[in-house]
Amino acid sequence: MEMDRMDENDWKYHEEGNKSLVVCHVQHCRVLRLLKYPAEDSENPPQTAEQAFRQIQNIVDFTSNVMSRLLGDKFVHSGEVVRLPLEFVRQLSIKIQHQRPAWRCDKVMDIYSGCALCLPNLTTPTQYQPTATPPICIEIKPKWGFLPSSKHVSRDIKTRVCRYCMHQHYKVANGKWKRRSLYCPLDLFSGNRQRMHFAIRHLIEEPQNNFKVFKGGQCIYSSKEGSEGSPDMNALLHHLRPYFLRGNNRVNGHMTAKAVLNDFIQVLVNALLSPAGGDGGPLTHRAPEGRSFCEASLFSNERVRHGSQGLPSSSVLSRILQTQMLDALDIEGLYPLYCRVEQHLQDFPKDRTRLQIDGPYDQNFLENVQKSSMEDDGSVEYAAAKVHQYRIAMTAKDCSIMAALVPSVKEEDDDEGLSSQKHLRDFRPQAFSSSVSILDLDPKPLDSIPRQLRLDQKIVACYLRTGGALP
Ligand code: ATP
Ligand code: ZN
Ligand code: MG
Ligand code: MG
Repeated sequence: MEMDRMDENDWKYHEEGNKSLVVCHVQHCRVLRLLKYPAEDSENPPQTAEQAFRQIQNIVDFTSNVMSRLLGDKFVHSGEVVRLPLEFVRQLSIKIQHQRPAWRCDKVMDIYSGCALCLPNLTTPTQYQPTATPPICIEIKPKWGFLPSSKHVSRDIKTRVCRYCMHQHYKVANGKWKRRSLYCPLDLFSGNRQRMHFAIRHLIEEPQNNFKVFKGGQCIYSSKEGSEGSPDMNALLHHLRPYFLRGNNRVNGHMTAKAVLNDFIQVLVNALLSPAGGDGGPLTHRAPEGRSFCEASLFSNERVRHGSQGLPSSSVLSRILQTQMLDALDIEGLYPLYCRVEQHLQDFPKDRTRLQIDGPYDQNFLENVQKSSMEDDGSVEYAAAKVHQYRIAMTAKDCSIMAALVPSVKEEDDDEGLSSQKHLRDFRPQAFSSSVSILDLDPKPLDSIPRQLRLDQKIVACYLRTGGALP
């Protein structure tokens, strides 16, 4: 990309989250991810251009030196920091403003630093040619896939009902969403196809900010915050139908909506379970010690007991789950260690650098974090390593998976007789080739830890109070 010849007409609004806004190139398979600031700060950017550059460089370093090594480099794209002409950024910001969803406009795009993160556009995989059938891409923000088993957990409910399911009650009570989602991450992370199918069905029914579908790079299915109804599932099925008619070779090209939905979910489950992602990396594999089902999930516990085969160890879900489980103490066990670090930094501010509190996330960072001793020797080094592990786990609890599906061509010689009997179990995965990536791997700041403790307490209290524990 030639930075001195940037033209805002080559870029269009793509998507945004809470922290950043993403624009995509109209021709090339690239996106720019720009920072966002609270709207009150719009006249007065909260950081200098150099600080913004540093922040984005930190994201790149953390992604490549920490998250990519834990999650597998086949899944992770760390991108690069770019400096853009300020005039281009200003024009771009004006151009896209009217396309932004109103509920995201409490923040404004950073037009002062001229810095951005340049990434491949993961909704349109590289092997895709514009002339072929547009790829379907599914984004899932899976959230926490395990129940804490730390001895520091003070409330029994936290070991029985997963964080996501409890958080849903809190979000509805606070008006963030109108309706509760029945998605449970423990079902998605179970590795059991039926449970995963069940989980994805509920993601589709109530996507909130956990589920989006793109076709040819364009978002065709997502939730609007605070809106009354669910997004239009019939419209989604209308988009999906042609992909599955061919893949399944149905007689007379007829397929019920339910069959389209089932096949779609099945292909997605296959992509999520497919083995990929480089070599094992330096992760010690740990199976969840707590129970692996959540009492709030509507998937029958009876069925759970029969066969949960677990996740293939190199699948994207397994890698994310293993990284999430670096949070072994739970926020309740971690918080005193955070306080030890904070106290130490007040007494010895210069140790901030030595303890790599705000990076740099260089090659040694992960090694230092991982070689921390298992036993608490009372040192600040032990506490800092645990805090870093927790922050890495937080990133893994907040990331998104992009699964891009491209219909494969060799489907013509299907045997009619066989395919008409096709059932969930024997759906042939070769109908699509998939490429899976993980995005949104920013480091979480140290001061998010006290917020996490307060939020944890509020969520549990709300769940117990609003009778979430009742059916
Ligand atoms: P969150 O609020 O989840 O923390 P965020 O502000 O950190 O989000 P991202 O999740 O990185 O921002 O990006 C916002 C959205 O932009 C994503 O949910 C995704 O839909 C889209 N997006 C981000 N990066 C890419 C990419 N490389 N290719 C395609 N789409 C992307
Ligand atoms: Zn749950
Ligand atoms: Mg995100
Ligand atoms: Mg994020």
